[in-house]
Amino acid sequence: MTCVGSEADPLGMISDGAVLTEAGHVVWVGPSADAAAACRALDVLPGERVDLGGRLLTPGLVDCHTHAVFAGDRSAEFALRARGATYLEIAAAGGGIAATLGPTRAATESTLERLTVDRMQAARATGTTTMEVKSGYDLTVAGELKLLRVVGRAGARAGMSVVPTLLCHVVPPERKADRDAYVGELADVLVPTVATDRLATSVDVYCDEGAFTRDESERIWRAAVDAGLAVRGHVGQFSDQGAAELCAAFGALSVDHVEQVSDDAIAALAAAGTVAVMLPGACVQLRLPPPPVEKLRAAGVPLAVASDLNPGSSCSSSLPLQMWLATTHFGMTVEEAWLGVTRVAARALGLVDRGVLAPGARADLVVWNAEQPAAIPYQYGATLIDRVVTH
Ligand SMILES: [Zn+2]
Repeated sequence: MTCVGSEADPLGMISDGAVLTEAGHVVWVGPSADAAAACRALDVLPGERVDLGGRLLTPGLVDCHTHAVFAGDRSAEFALRARGATYLEIAAAGGGIAATLGPTRAATESTLERLTVDRMQAARATGTTTMEVKSGYDLTVAGELKLLRVVGRAGARAGMSVVPTLLCHVVPPERKADRDAYVGELADVLVPTVATDRLATSVDVYCDEGAFTRDESERIWRAAVDAGLAVRGHVGQFSDQGAAELCAAFGALSVDHVEQVSDDAIAALAAAGTVAVMLPGACVQLRLPPPPVEKLRAAGVPLAVASDLNPGSSCSSSLPLQMWLATTHFGMTVEEAWLGVTRVAARALGLVDRGVLAPGARADLVVWNAEQPAAIPYQYGATLIDRVVTH
């Protein structure tokens, strides 16, 4: 599967195909009968040849939305939720994001790094080779910078290509009385420092009930654009604050969640080329209504699928599991789900060198113990990975 497809064959399947790689990059893809001639034409020295025995070969999976750097355990909240408590009720009782702040702030950098490496290795075992990781569980300027540095180091140790993102998550409890000053600190100090120190390439803001208002979010996103950083948004998970339109106006790379989004915003997202990131694990676990996938599809908004790996609403790094939820609960096709964890996910991160098997792309490869792409969501929960190859 190349994920460089046409309308008739969105995944670009090549039966009995071959991939030539050199120096960590794909140099040729095509029918295996043509591989020897391609080697000669491209002047590629014959090296190691691996026969995959007819197994499915795909690009490495790209998880474009995770919160993988945190400490603490919130499984008790899962139990409460299973008994019927809502996200907002749990947050009001001191749970939710606030419950992760204490353990994360108290953890040493080396502990956070070890925890993050463990999560990245688990993700790699299910096929993920690129992982976006957001900060957002310290919420002080110094602490958020620390989390972003941890992400970079953990990626190097785990063999994971990482994309750190600054997430302005919520106003921390100790700053609720002076939230204007807090938002000013984010916009005027944290965002420019992240840009200067090259600790992240984009700024995400959680604009929703219980998080940042539309005006506060706008101030932070404007600071991001001024600092040369890309814009992303947690938007419309619980309520439509008009943030999706705002993201489109900023030319955002992605809006994520969008369970609640207006028709006008969908048109604006399509015009801006902004990716809508579907997070079915969190949506299903929180028992929220699904996003309007049909409307997004009809408008031509690109759809990515991500894990939303986080300690509260979606404590899983498995993209194959998200593909199953996307197809069974969100009404996405198998092809959409695959593109959502490969090519479109890379686009949500502003990357064009992965998520596809094509000349010039990184040679991040996954070999599956399956022959057809549908087998991966179909056999949900199964471990179908034969091997994951990165360089
Ligand atoms: Zn999230």
